[in-house]
Amino acid sequence: MKVGILGGGQLSRMLALAGIPQGIQFSFYESQPSNCVGPLGDLTLAQYDEASLKAFINDVDVVTYENENIPVSVLETIIQTKPVYPGIEPLSVIQDRLLEKDYLNSIGIPTVKYYPINNRKDISNEIPMPFVIKKRRNGYDGKGQFVIETEADLLPIQDTQCEDAIVEQFITFEREISLIGCRGTEGEMVFYDIAENYHRDGILRRTENKVDDPRFQEATSYLEKILLSLNYVGTCTIEFFEKDGGLIANEIAPRVHNSGHWTIEGAVTSQFDNHVRSILSLPLGDTKSYGHFVMYNLIGKLPKVRDIMSLKSVQIHDYEKAPRLARKLGHLTCEKDKALQQKIEQLIWD
Ligand code: AMP
Repeated sequence: MKVGILGGGQLSRMLALAGIPQGIQFSFYESQPSNCVGPLGDLTLAQYDEASLKAFINDVDVVTYENENIPVSVLETIIQTKPVYPGIEPLSVIQDRLLEKDYLNSIGIPTVKYYPINNRKDISNEIPMPFVIKKRRNGYDGKGQFVIETEADLLPIQDTQCEDAIVEQFITFEREISLIGCRGTEGEMVFYDIAENYHRDGILRRTENKVDDPRFQEATSYLEKILLSLNYVGTCTIEFFEKDGGLIANEIAPRVHNSGHWTIEGAVTSQFDNHVRSILSLPLGDTKSYGHFVMYNLIGKLPKVRDIMSLKSVQIHDYEKAPRLARKLGHLTCEKDKALQQKIEQLIWD
């Protein structure tokens, strides 16, 4: 069996690393040069032109995607000949923050208050400061976002920054958490432990899984609703803010997620393995965790592999990406251990 993945980043890499031991082959379609996946399967580097897309589709049994910024028209072409999971509807709803929030509210999942804008003049006092301006599309890791706390913050804001954007209430919260689940083609659903996430400057720095988290039932009921209402197949993630003992949805990712990297070492079946299984109509694996795990992103620069290995009980994942400011280059996973984590944080955090 051969899986085609739109995208050639680290998520595609880890999907392939999960499927290859089971005899599954991979083909990647990427529009930017990438080192992440080259050794793991066929790689098409192209801009979604008809010929290259056709050759890619013909060569695989099923297609999936590793990010939500793929043009919907590409999926519309693929679906004429091969199945695409999670499908067109999840992608078209989730790749647009406005449609995504409208959808969440329509199925009874709370979000912060928001309204759409297209230029500076559209900013009203409907939502008082602090608020955040976010681009509706193509934003990730806090890109295209401007937090406005005072009138002075608003002064430099240009019309272009408000184009095709939303204004969102900026809240203080107790915790940021996420839940990852997976739904198979027969409708079976599995869920991982809640992940508790620590962000800095809009980028995820550290995640730990929380066995028996008090918000697990509430989060699962929301994710179940999403998986059912979108007739979803594959791994899906929902990120929440926890405030005053309740959950507020921030965003959905129609894919495997950074806050689930701990599942490679920490769960019986990883989020990547279950995604590959689900899209190939194979039985889903157990999502049970082996204990408490912590994952650290390696951002902008990599520590010396030898230094990490000498800590003995930390696994390092190097995505083979060129170092760049704020770029996710790899991650570390270990069991939760205060002394060990202090050593890691000294090595990787400024
Ligand atoms: P996002 O790209 O929407 O996931 O935002 C990146 C990070 O910015 C989130 O994980 C939060 O830490 C922070 N953030 C985003 N939106 C809000 C908000 N409305 N209120 C408070 N913090 C936010």
